[in-house]
Amino acid sequence: MTKTLIPIRICLFIAGTVTLIELVLVYGLSLAGKLQLTGTEILIGAILFFSASYGISYFFIKNYLQKKLGQIYKAIRRYHRTPNTPLPHIPMTQDVLDQVQKDVTQWAQELDQQVKTQTQLADYRRAFIGNFSHEIQTPIFNIQGYIETLLDGAINDDQVRLKYLNQASKNVTRLISIVEDLTTISKLEYNQVVMEFEYFDIIDLVKDVLDELALKAKESNITLKLNSHGHSFLTVKGDPMAIRQVLSNLISNAIKYGKKKGQATINLLNMDTYVIVQIIDNGIGIEQKHIQHLCDRFYRVNKSRSRLKGGTGLGLSIVKHILEAHNQSLSISSVYGKGSTFAFHLEK
Ligand code: ADP
Repeated sequence: MTKTLIPIRICLFIAGTVTLIELVLVYGLSLAGKLQLTGTEILIGAILFFSASYGISYFFIKNYLQKKLGQIYKAIRRYHRTPNTPLPHIPMTQDVLDQVQKDVTQWAQELDQQVKTQTQLADYRRAFIGNFSHEIQTPIFNIQGYIETLLDGAINDDQVRLKYLNQASKNVTRLISIVEDLTTISKLEYNQVVMEFEYFDIIDLVKDVLDELALKAKESNITLKLNSHGHSFLTVKGDPMAIRQVLSNLISNAIKYGKKKGQATINLLNMDTYVIVQIIDNGIGIEQKHIQHLCDRFYRVNKSRSRLKGGTGLGLSIVKHILEAHNQSLSISSVYGKGSTFAFHLEK
């Protein structure tokens, strides 16, 4: 009876006990000659006693449970920020404690999960602020250095003046790139960028991006190649502007981290329901331990090379967000010293 707390059983127990006491009393009084009742009267009396005590205990127990458990559920509701929803019905025929235990356990698990998420977010924020200030520190100090040197007299030297102004301008451009990339990421994270899905020719888009990056590739001595395996057009579904950015970031990386006289190939594989887009380079490659972190903000394998090439450490993070908005992911494989392949799918 006490293993499970089923309220109705307690009511029956109380009613049974009270009726038994009543019967013992009646029997005692009858034996003492103080009460003379027929069998039917005793039976009716017992039924009345049983019903009344059952009704009264039912009422009090239900009220008691509603009040006590109500406080627990109110705390859970407050946590869920739904204070106005009615309290749950107290199941008089089931094990109440079992239900409460389940609800409280679920609540505790949710709370635990929320604390974990908050802690992760706090760590993430701390790391982000650290990385961000570190990133902007260098260009800001550089600009300050150039301006102070100019003010200290270098402004009168025609050649130095021009050189320092150019350097200061490069650092301003760098700051702008960081801010622009961060703005893009934060818009993507807060779903402020509405993807405009349409059908477009991926071959045409790749050609466009390759044209745009041709000069950069030439400067770095990298040959760009498109391999569409005989297809003259391949229609895919996606946001062409966003996919353009994905291609641009990945092909730029293939150029930035390529070896002299290297090559970057954009391989388009036509499958049944999707097209696989691969950006394959024979550049410096990436050690395995870095691969899982490449899409983290500001993560760079070789900071000085990235900065030298104008990288912000945010390009792959943007790629990841855009592909996620297309329900796709970026796959990365690389052999250190030999080259890397970045690939993703697009629905046809
Ligand atoms: P970045 O602006 O530094 O290029 P990304 O987010 O685009 O930032 O890339 C993160 C890091 O991943 C780069 O700093 C670089 O170390 C590495 N990486 C990206 N693409 C390649 C590649 N094709 N080959 C080798 N390393 C790469």
